[in-house]
Amino acid sequence: MAERECCVCGGKPLGVCASSMRPISDAWCRECLEQGLEPWSFIVGGLAGISSKESLRVEAHPQIEANLKYYGKTWEDLFAEIRKLESEYEKYLDKMRRRDT
Ligand SMILES: [Zn+2]
Repeated sequence: MAERECCVCGGKPLGVCASSMRPISDAWCRECLEQGLEPWSFIVGGLAGISSKESLRVEAHPQIEANLKYYGKTWEDLFAEIRKLESEYEKYLDKMRRRDT
């Protein structure tokens, strides 16, 4: 089996853990795990359907802010990417609906 890498930084993993953002497991190193860091796609995908910082529970803000800092992004960047993902998903659903009729 191939050597696993931390799914965030590519470093030496501590082990396989469950994401706190999505129903998925991957390898994390101790540093990323302790900081609550997640792959950026897990953050964007995990928050799909949430439209603003205010509609996200306050307890989740520190973890999201740690990820924003790690990836050099802002809350505005995050919600812009969520809207883009939702729009792509809607297009995909439309395509599937048309195919079924
Ligand atoms: Zn890491």
